[in-house]
Amino acid sequence: MDKIVSLCKRRGFVFPGSEIYGGFANSWDYGPYGTELKNNIARVWWKNFVQNRDDIVGLDSAIITNPKVWEASGHVANFNDPLIDCLKCKARSRADKMLEEKLGIKEAVKIPLDKLDDKIKEHKLVCPVCGGADFTKIRKFNLLFETHVGVVTDAKHIAYLRGETAQGIFVNFKNVMDTMRQKMPFGIAQIGKAFRNEITPGHFIFRTREFEQMEIEYFIIPPKADKDWQKPFKSWQDELKRFFKEDLGIKEEKMRWRRHDEKERSHYSKDTYDVEYDFPGMGFAELLGFAYRTDYDLKQHIEHSGADLCCVDENGNKFIPHCIEPSFGLTRTLLAVLCEAYTEEPVRIASQSDAGGEVNGETRTVMKFLPALAPIKVAVFPLLKNKPELVKKAREIYENLKTQYMCEFDDNGNIGKRYRRQDEIGTPYCVTVDFDTLNDNAVTVRDRDTMKQERIKIAELNNYLKAKLFI
Ligand code: ATP
Repeated sequence: MDKIVSLCKRRGFVFPGSEIYGGFANSWDYGPYGTELKNNIARVWWKNFVQNRDDIVGLDSAIITNPKVWEASGHVANFNDPLIDCLKCKARSRADKMLEEKLGIKEAVKIPLDKLDDKIKEHKLVCPVCGGADFTKIRKFNLLFETHVGVVTDAKHIAYLRGETAQGIFVNFKNVMDTMRQKMPFGIAQIGKAFRNEITPGHFIFRTREFEQMEIEYFIIPPKADKDWQKPFKSWQDELKRFFKEDLGIKEEKMRWRRHDEKERSHYSKDTYDVEYDFPGMGFAELLGFAYRTDYDLKQHIEHSGADLCCVDENGNKFIPHCIEPSFGLTRTLLAVLCEAYTEEPVRIASQSDAGGEVNGETRTVMKFLPALAPIKVAVFPLLKNKPELVKKAREIYENLKTQYMCEFDDNGNIGKRYRRQDEIGTPYCVTVDFDTLNDNAVTVRDRDTMKQERIKIAELNNYLKAKLFI
């Protein structure tokens, strides 16, 4: 993971937040390539789950909402972490995470507070900061970020930054239903920021206080039998598995579907999975939450708002839809995509004529992103910077290509170094204009993964790249 963090900083994917002021509490800023990568993941997700489907529509709801939304959803009362303070160094830690790490168990957050206290003593846990063993009693700490709306900062004016994007979907369920004339089953998708006052953020961008989610609430007719929700639940599982593999390029063996047992599962859910990725240095950790949430959320909002969020079937009978929820972390998915793409390998070039400035046997770092996710699709080089005729031709090609893809023009340093730089940001194709180009109107196209070079006519370049990039 350290190598990935360092590449992210060095190559402009992710920077430490507020760095010139010494950083700020685990906040991260996405640099030029990180922003492209994040937008591409979101785009691929949206294309797959919204654009290509007739049964899912998009939404962009507010971050600051009526605080009653979060009372109804249960977040104000239940969205709590159990915290413990070290009496020696005053460090505050999550008691459940301390136990999970020591005992290798999951979801210790579900253990009642007094039992957690007992277990900390029983297993002789120590403060992760100073090693001390003297603690306060465990207390609950709400994860919602509080703010005040307007100029008065009293309790009456408290509002929350949303803790998940999903509640915006439930709150707008009726509006979407009425305006889009959707028939069951149908879904609402949303991508956006969410905020949680996490007490132990960490592992780079894995757990942050400000992050992005991509969530879908997929509404179904209330099931008469288990098979009525199990069938769409299973199709969602198949679709999610396909999406991770084919659209994000994450190998199946790096993913694990961990089913919640009855103790771990929320009381309203009939089936829940943590879909986990095997992060280097961390092991399997949650990338996506996937659950059948019954009619819990809409029921809660009906109860708290008094609004009628029911649907009517063809016989005029009212019903509250049930829902299946795939809840992705966008920033966590980005981390998984970075980890999956990161490759160190020796440079292997088939023939001398293919070498073009690369040295056989050198080790290269290459980000093997799927073309659709790569921040830059094509880089264009003139062989030499000080030959105006080469620079002019390369510029012409670049100006033409950049209207279609994110492209880069680079005339700095030798070609070998330029390839290394593009490998590190995962650019699938590099196009070089050399002296032959001026006679044969062809360029050398170098493939990132095979490192093979091909001579392509400029007139055919666009179609060639289109076919290779699947765009
Ligand atoms: P965790 O157990 O890791 O805290 P969670 O079960 O609370 O996650 P959910 O509420 O199910 O997470 O949120 C759905 C998704 O949002 C998660 O699978 C994850 O990808 C993402 N997510 C949640 N919290 C964070 C965070 N603090 N930083 C980054 N991504 C997050």
